[in-house]
Amino acid sequence: MTDAPAVPMLLDVPVAPQVRAAFTTRFGGVSPAPWESLNLGLNVGDDPVRVRQNRSRVAKELGRPVVYMEQVHGDHVAVIGDDWRGEVIVGVDALVTARTDVALAVLVADCVPILVADPVQGLIAAIHAGRRGVELDIVTTAVAKLRQLGACELTAVIGPSICGRCYEVPESLRAEVTAGCPQAYATTSRGTAALDLPAAVRAQLARAEVRVAVQQQWCTLEDERFFSHRSRLQSGTQTTGRCAGLIGLR
Ligand SMILES: [Zn+2]
Repeated sequence: MTDAPAVPMLLDVPVAPQVRAAFTTRFGGVSPAPWESLNLGLNVGDDPVRVRQNRSRVAKELGRPVVYMEQVHGDHVAVIGDDWRGEVIVGVDALVTARTDVALAVLVADCVPILVADPVQGLIAAIHAGRRGVELDIVTTAVAKLRQLGACELTAVIGPSICGRCYEVPESLRAEVTAGCPQAYATTSRGTAALDLPAAVRAQLARAEVRVAVQQQWCTLEDERFFSHRSRLQSGTQTTGRCAGLIGLR
């Protein structure tokens, strides 16, 4: 906790001059293993006091409060208006706002974090898409909400997530998901059935006429800078922390 971390707390991604988009790494927080150290997820076994400390470090780094969700692998979208006072938004997997004084967060440990902005109209969204979110096409639902609020030209960033070579699933599950979203079809490096969630998200964004500015190729399972649920499963424990995708209007 005392030494300056070799890996920064935030990895910034260029979207537009009016927008700040970034992804947190595992570094720069106060939590011990297996949440070491910048765990931003409550409800993953970590001490909530430490999680709040980690969250306030991120808020300080961004210079503004951050809106978090208690995600449920559903497709509900919440609009953050002027009445938001710091509470966690329960039961949703996407946040939308026009506010310029807050940042929106999506928590992940292998799922796909998606950040969307219309810098001209001043609208942003943070979206959580795991396997269920891809099946439910939460991307399209969240983009529809942005357009309903006046968004026109939308740009997206697809953040670090588990890649198609690593996300092994039973063949029956691959068949089920790819029936609705063929772009999710993948094979692991060992030749077994897999899902490529970032590819599926990219196709859904294209269908919703959202330009993808950046698609991170970092795989959360392979890249030690990020928390990975699957990586923990392989090492025999389910417990790990959560990273965040963050977006704010300047
Ligand atoms: Zn991978």
